[in-house]
Amino acid sequence: MQSTERVYLDHAATTPVDGGVLNDMLPYFSELFGNSSSQHSFGRQTANAVTAARDKMAVALGISPAAELYFTCGGTEADNLGIKGICLANVDRGRHVVISAIEHPAVIESANDLKKYGFEVTFVNPDGRGVISPKAIADAMRQDTVLVAAMSANNETGVIQPIADIYSEVKARGAYLWCDCVQSAGVLPLSRFPADGYALSAHKFYGPKGAGAACIKKGVRFIRIMSGGHQERGMRGGTLNTPAIIGMSHALSLSLSCAAEDGERIVRLRDEFERRVLSQIDGTAVNGGGERLPSVTNISFDGCDGQNIVFLLDLNGVACSTGAACSSGAASPSHVLSAMGLDESRVRSAVRFSFGRNNTAADVDFAVEAIKKVVRAIRG
Ligand code: PLP
Repeated sequence: MQSTERVYLDHAATTPVDGGVLNDMLPYFSELFGNSSSQHSFGRQTANAVTAARDKMAVALGISPAAELYFTCGGTEADNLGIKGICLANVDRGRHVVISAIEHPAVIESANDLKKYGFEVTFVNPDGRGVISPKAIADAMRQDTVLVAAMSANNETGVIQPIADIYSEVKARGAYLWCDCVQSAGVLPLSRFPADGYALSAHKFYGPKGAGAACIKKGVRFIRIMSGGHQERGMRGGTLNTPAIIGMSHALSLSLSCAAEDGERIVRLRDEFERRVLSQIDGTAVNGGGERLPSVTNISFDGCDGQNIVFLLDLNGVACSTGAACSSGAASPSHVLSAMGLDESRVRSAVRFSFGRNNTAADVDFAVEAIKKVVRAIRG
């Protein structure tokens, strides 16, 4: 158990930085502080460290060359760079984008921003399990479709998407596929999700916040969206955040090396938690079906308001959320669950619990008892 008073079940929002990762980062804040673009030895030292981190990350991801990686300040910037950068570089092919309706706002708003440049955006809803059908994507595509965006695994339900089949449909129609792998990176290998480009974010796999990468395959035409210096082969200006890059690279390798072991342990905790909540609390249902990430469960509680549950659970020592961290707190109900066709009361009563490396069976005991108490109190 993490502590006797507090249990953290919000790993889909963010994870703590791994101790070894932090140690690797620390020297780059002070002793090894050079700007990696500087010509002198201080700069060369950090530039070499960045090159090593890029190479290590490429090996962990199974991509080659490492130059396909563009370091960014997180998943949001990576999605912006990939989606806007690719679309705006390929207007000669058309101005139409297809987006799965369950994408993170980083993807949805990047696509919506393209409307300023004359693009049209078509949204594709998932089925009731939260799965996007490759055929629905194909049906939404047109001759002038430049890019399709579909995520590897959803951040609210954990549902894993059939990206390989979506990729085949997209390629058969000559467009690019952008895949937001923010939730699956460090858990599942990138090779499961063939695409032309990916977004990654370090703080989801026990690395630092404010670090991410766009992985854009060699040969894919794109333009930069951040004007500035010549960093990242001229495609992303800005002094590189060396400590964060070192930490991200280490965290990714570490996470992937223990993904199988962690995954097995975490899925057992998640399944036991789910089993107990469903069997011990009336009027509960899991949202999302098919294959899911081992860590996430999204549960609706009849007659309750999800925000209320989250608030009261926090007071009772359990941290969870109603959905994406950036939109929880917003009054609007989850666009993901709504797109799945769930009725409004089920959407409004949904809570996401996401498990991580440091959770234990005692955390499950603690959380289930707290949920029973809170739901009982809300239902009066
Ligand atoms: N994409 C998905 C699926 C996410 O879950 C998140 C963060 O929650 C992001 C993108 C944004 O990543 P970042 O927080 O690094 O900007």
